[in-house]
Formats: sequence, structure tokens, C-alpha cells
Amino acid sequence: MAHTITADSDQYDSERTGFQLSASHRPDVIFAAENAADIRAAVAHAAARNLRVAVQATGHGLATAADSGVLITTGRMNGVRVDPAAATAWVEPGTPWSKVIEAAAPHGLAPLSGAAPAVGALSYTLGGGIGLMARKHGYAADQVRAIEVVTADAELVLATPDKEPDLFWALLGGRGNFGVATGMEIALVPVKTLYGGAMFFDGFDAVHAWREWVAAVPEEMTSSVAVIPFPDAPFVPEPLRGRRATHIRIAYLGPAEEGKHLTDQLRAYGPRLMDKVDEIPYTQSGVIHNDPTDPVASQSSHSLLRELPPQAVEAARSLTTNILEIRQLGGALSRPPMTPNAIGNRDAAYIYGIVSRGPEVTPEHAQLEGALRPWSTGGKALNFLFAAHATEENVKKAFDPSTYDRLRDLKTTYDPTDLFHHTHHIPPR
Ligand SMILES: Cc1cc2nc3c(=O)[nH]c(=O)nc-3n(C[C@H](O)[C@H](O)[C@H](O)COP(=O)(O)OP(=O)(O)OC[C@H]3O[C@@H](n4cnc5c(N)ncnc54)[C@H](O)[C@@H]3O)c2cc1C
Repeated sequence: MAHTITADSDQYDSERTGFQLSASHRPDVIFAAENAADIRAAVAHAAARNLRVAVQATGHGLATAADSGVLITTGRMNGVRVDPAAATAWVEPGTPWSKVIEAAAPHGLAPLSGAAPAVGALSYTLGGGIGLMARKHGYAADQVRAIEVVTADAELVLATPDKEPDLFWALLGGRGNFGVATGMEIALVPVKTLYGGAMFFDGFDAVHAWREWVAAVPEEMTSSVAVIPFPDAPFVPEPLRGRRATHIRIAYLGPAEEGKHLTDQLRAYGPRLMDKVDEIPYTQSGVIHNDPTDPVASQSSHSLLRELPPQAVEAARSLTTNILEIRQLGGALSRPPMTPNAIGNRDAAYIYGIVSRGPEVTPEHAQLEGALRPWSTGGKALNFLFAAHATEENVKKAFDPSTYDRLRDLKTTYDPTDLFHHTHHIPPR
């Protein structure tokens, strides 16, 4: 029997609150799922009463907060099973990347995880997944073998490229619109170490050094740049305290000497406030971005760009209270996957965004998006649509037009009553 929690319970607030604090779900009832049967029971409960369903693993990717209905929390379903011979892992829906990384490492394997090890592996992958090895290995979604999912009729279905190919295709990109995934088989790659880490330069200008440098790096190099206004506070390392610093994040798949040689071209730009790039085990890959681990209220927005001229970099110079981030895409991210899926916008060369602190959407988001329009593809990346920016209009931009049309057709087939509404929403026809 599924464990349910209602608003009169002491557990209600902690269970519904996730990483993103700018909003949170306020459902009528929470199903704290421990297995697939609990998720089936939750979906059946909602369908019988015409209630809507929201799902939360860690809360890193909250889109629309549910104001009623059913919330399924999957944090207790956090197992992972590695098959070293097949180089695959079966991942449960509430499993953070950190657990997958730890389970794969003893076998000399690694998943296509992203910046923050605390992010939910399954939801990240269903949303695309632009990871630390993305330019070499593509989207995490491109390496999925099978997805087990509870559909709107409360049935448990195994979707693979051969069995239920439409559902498999739609889940990889359309994510929560088509059901609640209860597990997923992903491929792992033979990676034990990276030449990786971060270097910090004082001020904004080093963004241009990164911009020039990435133009000639091989696919084995996946990197990004952030400009961070650090507070003058004791928890900030001394060299960064009170400064606006450029943070270059490096993940190189290849011999450490080659990685060192490549990154020395960046070091030649000038003195660093900190330089912590070295050969590291993949289990330490969280140090590359060093993302916050405590829950936070923030708003993020982004543009996908075809190119990154100096004027595009300059567009963020004056946004001194925001965190700027630019990731280089391209490489395997721009190639079609072996098994087709719904992930779109493979023509983008960069993802360029800002983060503002607090629950409000500050004017800088629209200002930057407008300034970047000349170089924008017009697309969005689903995984980077959070909170107020996870609108239906933006979700539509995450897909190529014909893909979006097919997703709407399949939404009409698999979820005609729009049970799975509280997600990055794709409406049925
Ligand atoms: C600090 C930080 C770093 C990040 N770094 C990266 C990165 O490097 N690369 C990248 O691609 N993305 C990155 N992201 C985005 C992240 O991948 C997405 O936000 C992802 O959806 C988070 O998944 P979650 O399970 O942790 O979050 P949740 O908020 O729990 O889930 C997000 C959404 O996924 C859907 N969902 C959750 N579980 C299921 C399920 N079982 N079945 C169907 N749908 C489900 C729901 O609609 C839910 O609202 C980052 C986000 C943060 C906050």
C-alpha cells in the first residue's frame, strides 16, 4: 500500500520541497513512492478522480508547480544496478548522478552525467542531458536503451526502440508528458579519469580568452565559462572573495599531458586567482562546476546560439549581479543519435544563460535574450527551462517544428486527458 501524505501531516512541507525554492508543489495528496506499484496506484488514484499528476525526484528541475492534485515523489526509489559486461546501468527514478557515478567507477565506467552530481539522473536524461563529456559522447538521452514507465492508464510499460518505439522516442525529450518513468537502462562509457577542474580569472575579460580558445579545441574537450559575482563572505575562498570572477570549467577526455598542453593556451591569457585543473577520477567530477548543493530560489534563462562573436559576450558585461554561463555545444551533440529521439536544436553551438537570485524574474533576463537575438537559433534546451521560464511557449522552442507536431499527436494518444500536465507541458490536441 502506497504511503500517502496530506497537507495536515508534519511531513507535507519537507516532502513537497525540492532544490528549487522559487516555487514548490502544493498538491492535495503526495504519494511517497517506494516502487513501481506505488506509482501505478498514484496514477490510478489521479485518473479516477480527474486530478493532475506532478512528479518530483530531487526538485532541481521544477517547471510548473502543482497547486492541487497528486504529487508523486520518487526520492526513495534511488537504486542503481551496473552490468559491467554490458557497460550499462539500470537507474531508478529518484537516483542522483552521484550514486550512478559511484556504482560505475569500480568497473572503470562512467555515466554521461552533468555539472551537479545531486541532479536526478533519470529526469536529466529524459530532458536531453548536456554533460561533462557531451561534445564527445552526445546527449545522455542518445545512450538510453530502455525506459520503464507508468502510462496514463496506470499500466507499467517497457519502452525500447523495438517495443513501443513511439513512446520511447517521445519520452526522450518529451519527458514527463507521457508518463512516470520507474526505471531506465543507460549505457556507460569507459572513463576512469578526466583532465578536469576549474580556473578563475579576475574580472570579465577572460570570457573572451575562452571564446577564442574554444574555436579550435577537439571534441574531447567539453568546457564552459561562468562569470560569478562572489560575495565578500567567509565561505568564499579568499582569492575569490568580493570579486566578480571568470570561472572556466574544463573536462578533457584524453592524456593529461594533452589536456595540460591545451589548457596552457588559456593560462597564457594571464594570472589566475585559482587554478585547479589536473587529472582527477571521474568520481570527483563535481569539482569542475562546483555547483551549489543547498536548495536555492533562483530564476534562469538562456538562449541557444549559432555562433559566439565578441559582441554576444559583451551583451552580459553590465549584468553584474547575475551569474552568466556559456557552454560550448557542437561535436557529438550536433549529430543525430543512433536511435532517433525527440531531442531538438542539434544545430546550436552554444547555450548562453544567466541566473538571478530570488524568486522574482528580474528584467535582465529579457534584456539579455533580446541582445542575443542576432545570433540565436530561436531554440531552447528543455533541461535548462526552470520555474518561470518553463512556459508552454518556451517548451515548444525546445523541439524542431515537425518533432513538436509529432509529440502533440503522441500526447493525444498516450495522455488525451492531460493527466501529466504539471511538467514541461506539451498540450494534447
Ligand atoms: C545546479 C544544477 C545543475 C544542472 N546541470 C545540468 C547539466 O549539466 N546538464 C543538463 O542537461 N542539465 C542540468 N541541469 C538541469 C537538470 O538536468 C534538470 O533540471 C533535471 O530535470 C533535474 O532532474 P531532477 O530529477 O533532479 O529534478 P526534478 O525537479 O525532481 O524533476 C524535474 C522534472 O522532471 C520530470 N520528472 C521527474 N521525474 C520523472 C519521472 N520519473 N518520470 C517522468 N518525468 C519525471 C518532472 O516533470 C519534473 O518536474 C542542472 C540543474 C541544476 C539545478
